[in-house]
Amino acid sequence: MAWNHHRHLELYYAVSGSGAVLHTFNPRLHADQMAYIANHANDQILFFDLSFLTQVQALAQRNQSIKTYVALTDRAHMPEAHSLPNLHCYEDLLDAETDGFQWPDLDETSASSLCYTSGTTGNPKGVLYSHRSTVLHCYAAALPDALLGSAKDTILPVVPMFHVNAWGLPYMACMVGAKLVLPGPWLDGKSLFELIESEGVTLSAGVPTVWQGLLGHAESHRLGFSTMTRTIIGGSACPLEMIRSFDEDYGVQVIQGWGMTETSPLGTTSAFKGKHLHLPKAQHHAVQAKQGRGVFGIEMKIVDREGAELPWNDQSVGDLMVRGSWVLRAYFKDEGGSPLVDGWFPTGDVARIDADGYMQITDRSKDVIKSGGEWIGSIDLENIAMSHPAVATAACIAARHPKWDERPLLIVVKKTGAEVTAQALLDFFEGKIAKWWTPDDVVFVSSIPLGATGKMLKGELRQQYANHLLGEVAANA
Ligand code: ADP
Repeated sequence: MAWNHHRHLELYYAVSGSGAVLHTFNPRLHADQMAYIANHANDQILFFDLSFLTQVQALAQRNQSIKTYVALTDRAHMPEAHSLPNLHCYEDLLDAETDGFQWPDLDETSASSLCYTSGTTGNPKGVLYSHRSTVLHCYAAALPDALLGSAKDTILPVVPMFHVNAWGLPYMACMVGAKLVLPGPWLDGKSLFELIESEGVTLSAGVPTVWQGLLGHAESHRLGFSTMTRTIIGGSACPLEMIRSFDEDYGVQVIQGWGMTETSPLGTTSAFKGKHLHLPKAQHHAVQAKQGRGVFGIEMKIVDREGAELPWNDQSVGDLMVRGSWVLRAYFKDEGGSPLVDGWFPTGDVARIDADGYMQITDRSKDVIKSGGEWIGSIDLENIAMSHPAVATAACIAARHPKWDERPLLIVVKKTGAEVTAQALLDFFEGKIAKWWTPDDVVFVSSIPLGATGKMLKGELRQQYANHLLGEVAANA
């Protein structure tokens, strides 16, 4: 349970390389989920950062399997007051050993690490990765049209090492011999900007919400990046406006990546093909706004509600299924039975695929808006809303409607100091999408709730605003 730092990186290699299983633990989860996960995984030794001492003590009260606790610090910083049994100091443990460890020869199909999904619905489920799947994933991630890792790079994974192995970057950076820069707990825009500049970062990786802070800092202080040329953005859809701003305002190319805990996580990236290179910038950005083509080793298809395969014509929208060498076969301890359908993993995402093989997520299936039996993709609507100069963040959710069952409702956080009315924002959609896709209303809020991995919690928004349009329709009647 730790931030991204050198001791955490040491554990990535030491734990898995010694034949044990590295279970990375998300400290932002709810206490009940933490207790469930530690018991389910039968964790034995918990390494943790002192900033999580409170969470660890609470967990210790509800767990029997963990016999040893190790604080990731040196002797001088060990806590004096705590309630943990068998607490060790990480640096003391290292000091007591020599460098002469005999690394065991491990079967490539044995387990190397374990991650749990965030459990937005139901209990979190474990995904156990093998040494083999991790190494294959790493080779694929480093390919030129995936993340283009190289010994010439200085790589900054802002994406946490406690979630989906930081998209494999701690492995990829070492495999290609890149310099690795780790941000610790300092993830605000100012700290990240200063780290990128002082360490000469060339490639960074994070979720859109983190980059919003970075761009906000750069914009308000009129700063530019002197070394960073690429950034990988994934975890949730990267807004078109962020792609444009990184490119046109800062000269940084966005590589959008899509994946999930169940796919190790890398599935697709939005790298260009040769034919795109000479297109105008706006068309570049449209390619980058797609989640991209499957990296070698991943196969994709989209299917309709009966499971029939749909064409790759950029129009047909269906459930996205994937298979490949680093896609799970079953959840840890077979939780929930076999998730596969004819050997394919149903991702729970809804997407279209164009003739060049670029996949574009339109929604998570549970977030789809079903208006009069037709689907409306909330991500398309959010992208348009976020390209309005007054909008900082937008979420589009399904609100109940007496005639159409559901209609899109836009929840918006305005940029500091910016003003826009609901009507002006709705007018902004005109000509950009089919008229019937236009949201029925806009609700302005001060913030949108985020989950443990920085994604918008649309379920919470739906709980709060699902009946918003019913009141409005009644008032208008
Ligand atoms: P959890 O499922 O635990 O929330 P994951 O990190 O495994 O966490 O989330 C995977 C999901 O995140 C995908 O199924 C997809 O819905 C979403 N996602 C990931 N990357 C993107 C992306 N680039 N664009 C849109 N959605 C994305």
